[in-house]
Amino acid sequence: MLLTAELLLNYQRCNRRAFLDVHGDKSLRDETSDYVVKLIQDSSENQKTVLTGLDRPYERPQFKSRDWAAGAEATIAMMAQGVECIYQGVLLTEENGVTLVSRPDLLLRQPGLSRFGDWLYSPVEIKLSKRSKAEYQVVVAYHMKVLAAVQEAWSESVQIYLKDKPPSDIDLWEVYPRMEEILQSCIQELQSPTPPEVFISRNRCALCQWYTDCYNLAKSTNHLSLLPGVTQVRYNELVNFHIHDLETLSTTEPKLLDNAPGFGPDMAKRLIRQAQSSLNDIALPTEAFPQGRSIEHLLRTELSDSPIELYFDIESEPSLELIYLHGVLVVDRVNKTEEFHALLAETPDGEARVWQEFLDLVWRYPTAPIYHFCPYEVQTVNKLAKQYETDRSLIEPLMSRFVDLHERVTRLVVLPVEGYALKAIAKWMGFTWRDERANGAQSIYWYAQWLTTGDREFLESIVVYNEDDCRATHRMKDWLAEFLTKQGI
Ligand code: SF4
Repeated sequence: MLLTAELLLNYQRCNRRAFLDVHGDKSLRDETSDYVVKLIQDSSENQKTVLTGLDRPYERPQFKSRDWAAGAEATIAMMAQGVECIYQGVLLTEENGVTLVSRPDLLLRQPGLSRFGDWLYSPVEIKLSKRSKAEYQVVVAYHMKVLAAVQEAWSESVQIYLKDKPPSDIDLWEVYPRMEEILQSCIQELQSPTPPEVFISRNRCALCQWYTDCYNLAKSTNHLSLLPGVTQVRYNELVNFHIHDLETLSTTEPKLLDNAPGFGPDMAKRLIRQAQSSLNDIALPTEAFPQGRSIEHLLRTELSDSPIELYFDIESEPSLELIYLHGVLVVDRVNKTEEFHALLAETPDGEARVWQEFLDLVWRYPTAPIYHFCPYEVQTVNKLAKQYETDRSLIEPLMSRFVDLHERVTRLVVLPVEGYALKAIAKWMGFTWRDERANGAQSIYWYAQWLTTGDREFLESIVVYNEDDCRATHRMKDWLAEFLTKQGI
């Protein structure tokens, strides 16, 4: 069996993913998404930047793609010559019948003793990320393990180069035992005849190429991981209590789960209610649902029909730290009109201008509530205000006008959805996006494409997507107000 560092990285993200990478039917993999293609391109650009900034020349071994034996031979020849820096060399070693393959981004020559002479090499992993994640540290410790076997020497320096940051040293003696543990369990699972159980976790699965295959399997078995709030820890507890399906969960006494790890009385009740909602495909009020006057108060205040209502959604480009679009849907309930404003920075230097345009627009309607979904919009407004030294008298009053519908929906209602993201909720409420492919990651890709190609179609796709997000938020607000009204009768 052959084990690569990439496999070890994927194993840490999901054990099933590593298993499928080795044993799965490749024809079932999803196409690489545009966003992942962008990440790969960005990563390659980042590597080029690092290579250009190196204080020494580098060389790259030549060999046919995936011919690891030839790559290892060429790399060893370069190490024996004492090449200062080797870019994407190949290191191989055998352990208990498993071939360990390592491709550190850089091998840097250092003073010391190795089988090659009075020098040795230290491994470097180059990452696009700005954070030294635990999974990267394990990977670079793995490189060191294989390198030590090849050069018969350990290096004191084991580094990760993060984007726009100075090199960060990892504490090998702290990470190494963890890496060994993960490596051994990875090998064991890969040698097992059956794949690990599917477990859909939105964050983890979103960029995985096995998503459709795993999702279909989860769907066909009504897997509990599709129920919002069922984390891996909670799932393990449910299984311990022999709760494997929605029916059983929906009739479980909350007290049974109260003291289980990851639960507590509120979460137990919430999950059981979630199971009831999903099983019967109905919206249910939460335990925290207000009664009588409190409903009236909510309907009179933040969820009332105001003469003018604003629906707000932002698009950003995280790698450029750029806020390039403030989308605002102005709903005039008196004149029965709706007007969408796309305040768009076509180039990064337009950010300040669109920020000012946003302020002008929201202050044109000084009493209109501003509906949005999740805290990101409010956080961004505060961030931009700081960045552009905007007078606080223009910002403070906005804070009481913002209404986060994600917070209101999740506090008040349990819905038969697989997650409380805008798309899942609004789709259940009957809203459809004009472009099915559109999502946050896709819009980041589109903006990058616009900047590189100048093709306006990319910009137009972003604006359509952003407008639909604003309109979906609008639908949600109306739906919630109606639900509250019905419950209050
Ligand atoms: S889709 Fe999710 S469960 Fe399936 S392999 Fe990928 S990360 Fe794992």
